[in-house]
Amino acid sequence: VTEGPGAADSEARATLHRIFGYEAFRGEQQAIIEHVVAGGDALVLMPTGGGKSLCYQIPALVRPGTGVVISPLIALMQDQVDALRALGVRAGFINSTLDFDERRMVEAEFLAGELDLLYLAPERLRLDATRDLLSRGKISVFAIDEAHCVSQWGHDFRPDYLTLSLLGERWPDVPRIALTATATRATHEEITQRLNLPTARHFVASFDRPNIQYRIVPKADPKKQLLAFLREEHAGDAGIVYCLSRNSVERTAEFLTANGVEAVPYHAGLDGATRAAHQSRFLREDGLVVVATIAFGMGIDKPDVRFVAHLDLPKSIEGYYQETGRAGRDGLPSTAWMAYGLNDVIQQRKLIQSGEGDEAFRRRAASHLDAMLALCETAQCRRGQLLAYFGQDPDTAACGNCDTCLTPPETWDGTVAAQKALSTVVRLQRERGQKFGATQIVDILLGKRTGKVIQFDHDQLSVFGIGEDLTEGEWRGVIRQLLAQGLLAVEGEYGTLVLTEASGSVLRREREVPLRKEPKKPAASRSRSAG
Ligand code: ADP
Ligand code: ZN
Repeated sequence: VTEGPGAADSEARATLHRIFGYEAFRGEQQAIIEHVVAGGDALVLMPTGGGKSLCYQIPALVRPGTGVVISPLIALMQDQVDALRALGVRAGFINSTLDFDERRMVEAEFLAGELDLLYLAPERLRLDATRDLLSRGKISVFAIDEAHCVSQWGHDFRPDYLTLSLLGERWPDVPRIALTATATRATHEEITQRLNLPTARHFVASFDRPNIQYRIVPKADPKKQLLAFLREEHAGDAGIVYCLSRNSVERTAEFLTANGVEAVPYHAGLDGATRAAHQSRFLREDGLVVVATIAFGMGIDKPDVRFVAHLDLPKSIEGYYQETGRAGRDGLPSTAWMAYGLNDVIQQRKLIQSGEGDEAFRRRAASHLDAMLALCETAQCRRGQLLAYFGQDPDTAACGNCDTCLTPPETWDGTVAAQKALSTVVRLQRERGQKFGATQIVDILLGKRTGKVIQFDHDQLSVFGIGEDLTEGEWRGVIRQLLAQGLLAVEGEYGTLVLTEASGSVLRREREVPLRKEPKKPAASRSRSAG
């Protein structure tokens, strides 16, 4: 090995060719690897599929000692280690799935300096035994994967990650590299602070996925809309359909299969063997659709996923980006399609209210949801809004490859409609003890004498029938947008609609309410025209 400047660089490149068989580094991989090989700390923000693994695997191979990788993805460790071993890399893992003898063997290999990479679950580091073990061997680099798990802002916060700040104190000479695919500015700061990485160099890759076409359509009959979308644009393609509940996962998978689209369910309620079988079919077969809860996908590396569809609203933009990001890793045109409606908003708001966690937790969940709703309701370029959320300036004002760019939505002055809806909510709010949701409001506005309208004498209200100029679908759209804009709120387990502080300014005619026009029928799907 030659010493001197450039030696580390060429050694990294040689490892890239020799071990991994790749031609060239991608994006910032080279700069990151050089920095870490030279002993520097790094924070790497790179979208899923961007190639984060090499950023710590190559330093681990180039520097003397074992690279210790902290990863929460226990279920994937075996696969990762097998894949590395197949390349001739000496890799092992320690997690709760190993029995005593297996663990002993890995520990012995580590102590003998026979491991290039050792994967550890974060909870292992809480154990003195693990820390002692690490102290007795030689460590080349610490890699903290899925580093957003340290963040209270992230969508999968893990208390075990908080103990990782000790690594820097106990091993001050070992470089640390923290990696994540989901990071807003607030999350970067929290990672830097909580992992105690004040001098880490930040490497921020572009979050743009230009080959993914983003589309969000109004939800009418979601399963049928999905089927039409698949038939018209993705017949025979592999893809993932995300649903919120296990029940809707099952029903959607059955519906697709019954209609000639081969689909399998995946959720935490299925036994491990079934889950593993469905996952490996998805990876191996062409054109299989997996219908899943968000339990599916972490670490899945299938390059030719042509679409990701959401039948329910994700809880945050981080979640939406990560899930949609599983489409099109091969760079070919792919679609991120979502059906979204009034019930999604009400359901998510109710979940936050009735969910666990303290007030601060709820406020955070609500602000995540608000950002997601703003993305759904925007009349601007969706890509631009996504990138702005991650703190990145878009290249152009309009990307030309999202629904709002392809078919700019019409907007209308919804001020009077908003006043009518809010006035109706006020009338019902006065009826102490009675709780009414969106359906009753819409029935009253439309002047419908339903059983429940007659029962409560709501046909006697002055607002009864004042909304006959709009259709039922349009009123649901108005209410959905008022909820998204914070001009209405949801209360209690029945999803009662109530006014917010901001509602007053609309009722007093102090502000206008621009609204997106609801398409007459669910947006007609376009031909595949990305790129
Ligand atoms: P991430 O962890 O950021 O989601 P991975 O590290 O799993 O991404 O990499 C995604 C895919 O890209 C993998 O199949 C990996 O082998 C491939 N890859 C990474 N870097 C390169 C490169 N420099 N050249 C070619 N393929 C690469
Ligand atoms: Zn756009």
